[in-house]
Amino acid sequence: MQQLQKGLALETEFFLLDRLALNVPTEIVISEDAKEWGPWAKKFIDFDLLNIDSPEEEKLVEEKTIFSFKGMAEKKFSSEWESHLLVKGELCFHYPEGCIRCLTPVWQDLSIPLQLAFLDEKFEKSSLLEDQISFVFGEEEYELFYFQKKKISLKELFEELISFHRPDFVLHHEECKGLCQDCGEDLNKASCSHC
Ligand SMILES: [Zn+2]
Ligand SMILES: [Zn+2]
Repeated sequence: MQQLQKGLALETEFFLLDRLALNVPTEIVISEDAKEWGPWAKKFIDFDLLNIDSPEEEKLVEEKTIFSFKGMAEKKFSSEWESHLLVKGELCFHYPEGCIRCLTPVWQDLSIPLQLAFLDEKFEKSSLLEDQISFVFGEEEYELFYFQKKKISLKELFEELISFHRPDFVLHHEECKGLCQDCGEDLNKASCSHC
């Protein structure tokens, strides 16, 4: 992937980029404490979706889960679109998704290349951009977004992108027997009187 020549490098082990404002110098907040998760990340990994048997297993899930974004943000100006922001990089995540039958955690490794353009919100109503979801700048195509009250929250956007790209059919084993519908017993590990 071609890097933007100028601009701010964004690199963080977790999403702790906060808000970028258009009319003030571009500001990116990255926590120095990389051990700390954004609250949204905890929300995203809903432990109730997983079949976690012990505190050790829960600790392992917490320690090994990684969300990261690595890339560049560049503020641009053109007479047509005025000040706008281009963000280019890769969103990576390593996290457990529950098996759809028995909820056993299955580790996922996903990376999503991103090219995002943010224009001033006044252009959202522009007839030129009506129903457009992408924006061509130079030779390259960017997904199109708008600032809201002069700000964007990459954190929220990334959260949406992760939800969108989450696999929706994960099996821990192709012959997974699932959980008993009556008593919840994991039928891969034991049998019960209902089956
Ligand atoms: Zn399973
Ligand atoms: Zn049962």
